[in-house]
Amino acid sequence: MQELVFSLDYAKQRDAHDLLNNFQNKFYFPYIHERKALYFSGASLGLQPHNTQDEILTELEDWANYGAEGYFHSRNTWFTYHDLLVNETSNIIGAIPSEVVIMNQLTVNLHLLLVSFYRPSKQRYKIICEAQAFSSDQYALESQVRFYGLDPKETIIEVLPPPGEYCIAHQDIYAAIEKHKDELALVLWGGVNFFTGQAFDIKTITDKAHRAGAFAGFDLAHAVGNIDLQLHDWRVDFAVWCSNKYLNAGPGSVGGAFVHQKYDHENLIRFAGWWGHNKETRFQMPKNFDPIEGAEGWQISNMPILSMAAYKASLSIFEEAGMENIIKKSKDLKKFAEFVFDEVNKQIDVSNKLEIITPLSSNPKDFFGSGNQISFKTKANGKKLYEDLLKHGVISDWREPEVIRIALVPLYNSFEDVFELGSILIKLLK
Ligand SMILES: *Cc1c(COP(=O)(O)O)cnc(C)c1O
Repeated sequence: MQELVFSLDYAKQRDAHDLLNNFQNKFYFPYIHERKALYFSGASLGLQPHNTQDEILTELEDWANYGAEGYFHSRNTWFTYHDLLVNETSNIIGAIPSEVVIMNQLTVNLHLLLVSFYRPSKQRYKIICEAQAFSSDQYALESQVRFYGLDPKETIIEVLPPPGEYCIAHQDIYAAIEKHKDELALVLWGGVNFFTGQAFDIKTITDKAHRAGAFAGFDLAHAVGNIDLQLHDWRVDFAVWCSNKYLNAGPGSVGGAFVHQKYDHENLIRFAGWWGHNKETRFQMPKNFDPIEGAEGWQISNMPILSMAAYKASLSIFEEAGMENIIKKSKDLKKFAEFVFDEVNKQIDVSNKLEIITPLSSNPKDFFGSGNQISFKTKANGKKLYEDLLKHGVISDWREPEVIRIALVPLYNSFEDVFELGSILIKLLK
């Protein structure tokens, strides 16, 4: 075990030995008071890669030069542009390419897959999900339940953290599945909770849901590009994600969905559109819908090429860095940050003590760990601390009433960033 040290020299030395250290040069950083910001808000919006503009410009030029001919004759052939994204996305989520589709945005994809995977019957109609899930997921589930004339209060079972805690115990998830197994239709869970940064054991949750006779679906908004995912091997039924957070594809950029290969020949009920139709005859526009085999068959509309160009630009960085290296650095940065927070707490007034609510690498209890995020609880005046951090060039994320979120993104955050954050916190809270 390497001895951790709270010093600039030590942080710089760790950066010098970091395989991914140069990747920060591939991104644009915001500036505050003419100084490059310390950016810890990658869980809200990932930074812009330098190559994004080139990829988008290529498509703008081809649109100008080819017009409609660009569908088949542009450099990246718009008709099959999607094929440029699925292999690299599969590497990030542990899928085979035909299980992946890049389309729409997260909540839209969640609705579309609920149409296929939430088909309540008199006997099986309940959904198990996290309490305090991201608002959009809650709205999506409630509206789906109402769509079937059911009462969300009796249908949606929320699993809460133990009293006084922020993170959910896996035992409580499994107990809920067991308790409701005869009426359970679906377990819909997050890969990483947006607020606490807690990561979940997707494999075991999926196994338990299946044993109870239910489907298992996942919202991977904060998990994709962040933690190890093996969706195919874990036999996850479906999953959805967005690309504006760790995938660095820009604000409101195109999202994605996963449907397991085991459904390739099941002809599941879905809401259909022409882009999900057999590519051979799509432009002949026959009367009967003939879905493409695999996840692509859930596409409805023609692809947003400009948005997909931004997604493509980002994927090339992931491919070059490699998911294993990203995950390894994430763990190292996280350990260092936990150590730095301990140092901060030693050096500041006890009345200001910061408490990390994200599961710690040193003490995972029955928790499964976390991704690269650290959420910490502030004492009184947390909002002011967030604003003071901003004045000192630190972009973090404030969550009412008392939590600040810090994302340590391996592609563009360094050990030095973490050291500087610690130093600024000490200065502000001494
Ligand atoms: C960011 C986020 C979303 C975003 O959904 P969109 O429909 O793409 O805007 C959904 N769910 C979770 C958990 C998120 O963190």
